[in-house]
Amino acid sequence: MISIVIPVLNEEQLVVRFLKELFQALKQTGERFEVVCVDDGSTDTTLEKLVDFHKKHTELKIISLSRNFGLQPALTAGLDYARGEYIVIMDADFQDPPQMVPFLIDKIKTTGADIVSAVRKTRNEKFIKKAYINLFHKIFDQLTSGQQIAQTGNFCILNKKAHKAMLQFSERGRYLPGIRNFIGFRHEFIMYDRPDRLEGEAKMTRVKLFSLAADAIYSFTKWPIRLCLYLGILGVITFSFAIVYTLASKFLGLAPIGWSSLFLAISFFGSLQLTFLGLIGEYIYRIFKEVQARPLYFVRDIYD
Ligand code: UDP
Ligand code: MG
Repeated sequence: MISIVIPVLNEEQLVVRFLKELFQALKQTGERFEVVCVDDGSTDTTLEKLVDFHKKHTELKIISLSRNFGLQPALTAGLDYARGEYIVIMDADFQDPPQMVPFLIDKIKTTGADIVSAVRKTRNEKFIKKAYINLFHKIFDQLTSGQQIAQTGNFCILNKKAHKAMLQFSERGRYLPGIRNFIGFRHEFIMYDRPDRLEGEAKMTRVKLFSLAADAIYSFTKWPIRLCLYLGILGVITFSFAIVYTLASKFLGLAPIGWSSLFLAISFFGSLQLTFLGLIGEYIYRIFKEVQARPLYFVRDIYD
């Protein structure tokens, strides 16, 4: 059986149309399937529409969360409840085209890979969004020395082994595409052109996207904390010259002129220390979240 995991938040405009096209694509493959739709606390009629659809199509399973927990917890819920031999993860806004699902299934079966990820060859998105997403991928790729695969998102298919491995992660600040690259296994790729969302506004707001990017960088690279060290060393080197200058001025009787270097030193080290404190604070916050180990999500209803 194939499971399709789909997180949805306020997608009333297109969820039914999406499911219809997905079901059509899946039926063509002749495979047995279940669609696990995770309703991430929608406040519009999305859940009613899903329940309606579920009444006519028993292959649709709905996991309705108790509130909006965010994309990553919603995906995790979907992965927790999916029972198939193969698991497909995709968005509900047609940016991951339903017509591509049969190709993913075919590719994982014919290549014997454990994971097949869809790589965005091109993107059709608003200019600014595209720019910062591309910037993120560039930086993330550099910082992880190519261990993370650039331009991959949620859209992928996993076999049982890879699925099991992904379920073992308990971290709160999670970035599932990163986890998928981290676990290894045999990983194949399909290139595709990512279209724009068909209807409505993006549900991953800018704030959510930036905090996801931060989670990805903090949990998969050591660079923020290492940057502190490097900046600190740079500061020490710079100001060892300043010390020589200050002492020299003092002994040459030019001391009063030194007030500017004093002022510079104080403000430089002051801001450096504040930056470090802030960065260390980020880590402490993340450690705190992990230690708290709160549940990632709560399920209110299951329609199965
Ligand atoms: N989504 C969700 N919870 C959230 C935000 C988004 O379940 O808090 C769903 C959304 O309904 C969509 C998918 O996640 O099916 C991707 O969201 P969106 O298209 O807004 O993000 P993009 O990746 O295109 O920026
Ligand atoms: Mg989208």
